[in-house]
Amino acid sequence: MREALLIELEDWAKLGVEAHFRGRHPWMPYHNEVREGLASLVGALPSEVVAMNSLTANLHLLMVSFYRPTPARPAILIEAGAFPSDRYLVESQIRFHGYDPATDLIELEPDEAGGTISLAAIERVLGEHGHRIALVLWPGVQYRTGQAFELEEIVRLARAQGCNVGFDLAHGAGNLALQLHDSGCDFAAWCHYKYCNAGPGAVAGAFVHEQHAQAELPRFAGWWGHDPSTRFRMGPHFQPTPGADGWQLSNPPILALAPLRVSLELFAEAGMDRLRAKSERLTGFLEQQVRTRLAETLEILTPAEPARRGCQLSLRVAGGRARGRALFEHLEHIGIVGDWREPDVIRISPVPLYNTFEDIARFVLAVEAWRG
Ligand SMILES: *Cc1c(COP(=O)(O)O)cnc(C)c1O
Repeated sequence: MREALLIELEDWAKLGVEAHFRGRHPWMPYHNEVREGLASLVGALPSEVVAMNSLTANLHLLMVSFYRPTPARPAILIEAGAFPSDRYLVESQIRFHGYDPATDLIELEPDEAGGTISLAAIERVLGEHGHRIALVLWPGVQYRTGQAFELEEIVRLARAQGCNVGFDLAHGAGNLALQLHDSGCDFAAWCHYKYCNAGPGAVAGAFVHEQHAQAELPRFAGWWGHDPSTRFRMGPHFQPTPGADGWQLSNPPILALAPLRVSLELFAEAGMDRLRAKSERLTGFLEQQVRTRLAETLEILTPAEPARRGCQLSLRVAGGRARGRALFEHLEHIGIVGDWREPDVIRISPVPLYNTFEDIARFVLAVEAWRG
């Protein structure tokens, strides 16, 4: 990472603007250097993915094309308790089009113990409201519960009701072995600073299915989305690049892309399938240890079936918020970094790229020692 950034700083110092063409990694086509890595990360064709902007910005841009509400079909379906940015995003999109979130934002409540959502519940809500739903925006992995969803099934259910489907893969990319192309969804977006380790505010990812590659969809355009073969004629008429590239607005921030390039090389070297196989064993070990040794202290909210979760287990601390905070802060103090969710949940996510079975044993011993 450090070296990749230094290369860009040196080329910038030596070549200035000429590094667009003569840099060791020329800036002009730089986003192509992450294309293969992105495609294999999320199971897409190379032309279906692009690195650009940030996650929320990408969802807004893609919704310009794929959320086209009409009076008969104005609604968006999301999960109840969605990540705040996603909720703000869909609410503002609904208002922007002149509709009312009070009636046109449908939030599906959990129907399972632990706050997870069954496929049957998704089928029911689509059966009831599907004719009014323009877009289903669904997480790959729900951030609070750690539940992973079968993307292909969600697409199938939504399509049966004529809805568009997009996925927020903030907690899915780099965590699950995704098959975005095969899922048949219209679009997806994700960030790279969570499971992909590409640094704070790293450039995000976007996916547009091949079926839309040539379509003349409404979109917010910018020059970097223009066909590169004629971009620099600087003509007045926008000619989109086919595929996901056609949604780009601006020339990308090279200093933020360089760490992503390195991160995707590491993921390619390790292989998403192998990482996922290790991940299932790691999280399975954590689950087994919590169940057998920490059951009085920690309740697992995340589904038990490996296919219905990624790395993360959401653990409710017995005894309420104050006790939960005390445990969380103790763990942090001794260098075990999880994540706190109000009012009483600790998320622990052993990741296969750098966590070990020993790390999990250390966590278990630490909770036992704290409990006394
Ligand atoms: C992390 C996360 C975000 C953050 O959005 P940014 O635009 O990258 O700041 C949005 N949605 C979900 C579900 C997330 O987990």
